[in-house]
Amino acid sequence: MSENVENVVIVGSGPAGYTAALYTARANLRPLVIEGFAWGGLLQQTTDVENYPGFPDGVMGPEMMQKFRDQAERFGARLVTDQADRVELSKEVGGVHRVWVGDTVHEARTVILAMGAEHKKLGVAGEEELAGRGVSYCATCDAAFFKEATTIIVGGGDSAMEEAIFLSKFAKNVTVVHRREDFRASKIMLDRAREQQNIEFLTPYTVKEFVAGDSGALGHALVQNVETGEQRELLVAGTFIAIGHEPQSGLVSDQVDVDENGYVVTEGRSTRTKLPGVFAAGDLVDHTYRQAITAAGSGCQAALDAEWYLRDTPGVPVPADMPLGDPAETQYAPAAD
Ligand code: NAP
Repeated sequence: MSENVENVVIVGSGPAGYTAALYTARANLRPLVIEGFAWGGLLQQTTDVENYPGFPDGVMGPEMMQKFRDQAERFGARLVTDQADRVELSKEVGGVHRVWVGDTVHEARTVILAMGAEHKKLGVAGEEELAGRGVSYCATCDAAFFKEATTIIVGGGDSAMEEAIFLSKFAKNVTVVHRREDFRASKIMLDRAREQQNIEFLTPYTVKEFVAGDSGALGHALVQNVETGEQRELLVAGTFIAIGHEPQSGLVSDQVDVDENGYVVTEGRSTRTKLPGVFAAGDLVDHTYRQAITAAGSGCQAALDAEWYLRDTPGVPVPADMPLGDPAETQYAPAAD
């Protein structure tokens, strides 16, 4: 073990990661944040955020994440804008966890996992090749490139409806392609989409392939009727895929518990994983709410859980400058083996 064991290493840099960094920095724990190459998480891909309290006129997603980042740094969070390549999490109470960034290994008493989620891919031919050339996962980011264009949205949930409504303000028309007759989307979102003159629905269809046109950008989508097998070519300039999200738990899924969808499992209302000193927060654990405000809230919880673990666990050295507070005021109890 090196002499330089960090108090807290945070992996991930969305609202959960930066909030955990802010709180642990203010507790004098000098957190080290492995931000990833593209810091800021999914909010970097959004435009107006109108539902984050404290911003009555809304705020742009990237601007908000810059503020989160600046605030964490102001209190002493140290940022590494690079990818965590491998982790080795200890099973022992008081054990040392290791996080590799390239050849550099960071050792830590606690680790907060906040790698978030990514847009789910369809996994069909042409999708990867045409990403950024007609195939997109974010209408709020890219809709403006499709003014007066013929477009499709793939998916039948609230995200698909939200994206379709947003896209319909720019595109000439939007066809929602969904694999079932029934929609997972809430009635209110579905009704709103149905009210738009230039949104139509094509069900039950799946996309089989995306094909480039002469320009090299997306030319058409090959879709197939799930019941009859009939195929059609839809001439489209833009496709937005909105079929949900995938938690980015691959780094740790063989070490902590994950559910059947890959979300990291935490104990009760805490952010504790099954491993002592390892906590998880944000979209990495949350399939249900997935809001910036709830991610930030759980990042705060993870920071407090980590602080309490460091302060209250027999066998774990209490960090020198940590304000101690009263253990009786907190709920932390070390996890059983
Ligand atoms: P979701 O509810 O999981 O819906 C995903 C949709 O994509 C489903 O219709 C699903 O079809 C379809 N899908 C999944 N994999 C597919 C595949 N491989 N090929 C074709 N279609 C596929 O995800 P979401 O829409 O992102 O919503 C996630 C959560 O965020 C929900 O709780 C939602 O209410 C919430 N949300 C709320 C709002 C809002 O209220 N403003 C906006 C966005 C999201 P099946 O139905 O057939 O499985």
